[in-house]
Amino acid sequence: MQPEPSHEASALLRQIKPVNQWLEMPYLQSLIETHGRIRVSALLRKTLHQQRESILQGGTLWAPQFTLQKLRANLMALNQSGLRRVINGTGILIHTGLGRSPLSQNAIAAVAETASGYCNLEIDLESGFRGRRADLIRETIQAITGAPAATLVNNNAAATILALRALAHGKQVLVSRGQLVEIGGGFRLPEIMAVSGSILREVGTTNKTRLSDYENAITPDTAAIMRIHTSNYTIVGFTEEPDPKELAALAHSRGIRFIDDIGSGALTADAVPAARSDPNVTDALASGADIVLFSGDKLLGGPQCGILVGNAHSIALVEKDPLMRAFRVDKMTIAALAATLESWTDPEIRNRDIPLWQRMSEPLESVKFRADQLADSLQKLGWNCWPEPSQAFAGGGSLPSEQIPSWAVVVAAPYLSDIKTEEQLGQRLRSGSPAILGRVHKSMMWLDLRTIPPEDQSVVIECFSTIGAN
Ligand SMILES: *Cc1c(COP(=O)(O)O)cnc(C)c1O
Repeated sequence: MQPEPSHEASALLRQIKPVNQWLEMPYLQSLIETHGRIRVSALLRKTLHQQRESILQGGTLWAPQFTLQKLRANLMALNQSGLRRVINGTGILIHTGLGRSPLSQNAIAAVAETASGYCNLEIDLESGFRGRRADLIRETIQAITGAPAATLVNNNAAATILALRALAHGKQVLVSRGQLVEIGGGFRLPEIMAVSGSILREVGTTNKTRLSDYENAITPDTAAIMRIHTSNYTIVGFTEEPDPKELAALAHSRGIRFIDDIGSGALTADAVPAARSDPNVTDALASGADIVLFSGDKLLGGPQCGILVGNAHSIALVEKDPLMRAFRVDKMTIAALAATLESWTDPEIRNRDIPLWQRMSEPLESVKFRADQLADSLQKLGWNCWPEPSQAFAGGGSLPSEQIPSWAVVVAAPYLSDIKTEEQLGQRLRSGSPAILGRVHKSMMWLDLRTIPPEDQSVVIECFSTIGAN
């Protein structure tokens, strides 16, 4: 219960003008023109509520100018609250917090075209009968990876739940103790398995799991062996894991399935550095997996989605599951994915067209040249900054320990009245439009050029010029 306001406070509260009187003021008309009547009225109510709260705390009656200033601040805060464009200077290419992979121009055009009218989302135009959404990307995935069948859902977490439900509901699934991953954002494998209705049967140890561990654990209650790529950590040292080929052969010799969650969605072998053992879709299928699972917005460089490829029978079981309907993707996702997949039909086209691959494949000298350029421009504005070699990362649970050589512009915090530390500079850059996100390192603000495309450099310069140089 709120205490009764004091006699003085009640007197002040009565002096606050009601909303409709404020709305008639000439100054409000221009705000209404810019922001719309509904928004201005709502925020005016919020502002007057703040005034009442302030009086109840012992505050005074605000001057009209002050109330309007508060109203403007509330309107500004609302404008900043939706999705805003961010320039990614973190050096992390697939940054889940920043929306993972930017889409290619082709994908953007395909989304715009599909979104602006009707399309054959679930109609086979040749026969006039009902088709399936996945039909629209099946052939391209087949051509690139050799997958006999494919389907897709909202993300790889959904793909995992669906695969386990459709292929192992009420049955045991064998997983190595070294692969019981947490991917982040609530994806913990044991919990995903529980939700799917399959029963987790751990085998082996954290660092060593042998083929015989799997073999000895198979019973009539076992439906599948599942391998999960440890996307965001590596177990090094005294380690052992069977080859996927051996796991697939073992599974098939005992009449069960082999499910391979490879995570990042490198479609072909050339998409992962030769020195690494990171899986790719083509090889995972060739090893004999019944179903391979991966994300569309990691190394694939497309929209958020989860893709399941594998043999026709396993994919058919997945497509029959009632949850398929709950996890289905929309027409814009399919349009973006289809266009992105087209770029994968040739590694050169992929590196030329998909923003993630443009950035990953940019020669180091070119990144250095751009860092020199940007540092030069910012120096001319009076900023204390210089180019430095740095390390970028694929991120997003892809190639976890793979450092990508890069160059950054290192900016020292200026001695402005309101920006004295690198944290304050960071906050100021984040509040701009577009926002700029860098990395604070060694008491400096690092802007990694590996994740800032050339066309955004002038925007960065403009943002710094509005902060005012020292
Ligand atoms: C990223 C990842 C997931 C989760 O994929 P989302 O598309 O983010 O749902 C699942 N498994 C592995 C191995 C991953 O790397």
